[in-house]
Amino acid sequence: MIAIYPGSFDPITLGHLDIIERGSQLFSQIIVAVLRNPNKTPLFSVQQRLEQIRQSTTHLDNVEVDAFEGLTVEYATRSKAKVLLRGLRAISDFEVELQMAHTNKTLSTEIETVFLATSNEYSFLSSSVVKEIARFGGSINHLVPPHVALDTYKCFTHNQTVSNPIRTDTTEVNPLNSSPSNREM
Ligand code: ADP
Repeated sequence: MIAIYPGSFDPITLGHLDIIERGSQLFSQIIVAVLRNPNKTPLFSVQQRLEQIRQSTTHLDNVEVDAFEGLTVEYATRSKAKVLLRGLRAISDFEVELQMAHTNKTLSTEIETVFLATSNEYSFLSSSVVKEIARFGGSINHLVPPHVALDTYKCFTHNQTVSNPIRTDTTEVNPLNSSPSNREM
């Protein structure tokens, strides 16, 4: 059974990746689908987000990455998917997600929404939290895959340097140690 995992992924976090990895054990195929949303001003372009997700999921054979616009259920029907996979972190997610699941059910009775509860360690984690920390110069190395951390630092370092990373393990990406070419905008 094919499942779509739709979202903004601006950028993909370890919380998203956890849902993708666990979902890939449950379904024959997962399509991570980046929504092209003209009403939002994202930090990363759709193309950048697709590439970030592709690089993060190379170890998962049954995961595909794609972009779409319009109604998620229509995209799912075109993709022959029967499931919309979503993650739940808190009660606040639940209200929004339940409303969305009910709405989607009115649009297509064929497609079920399946929720996976977040793993404990990622219950606070969102793309917004990642961007907020990076904007103020904190380390996000423990929140996103290394290449995503580097991309995010690059977005903010043209105005300020990431001067005080919370974690400075040398094994992790530290923007101050990256080569000059990596730090170009
Ligand atoms: P959207 O704009 O559709 O909310 P997101 O990229 O923020 O897109 O999230 C996509 C999905 O991943 C949503 O179902 C969201 O609840 C879920 N999600 C986001 N962060 C986490 C996390 N840390 N743990 C579990 N699920 C998460």
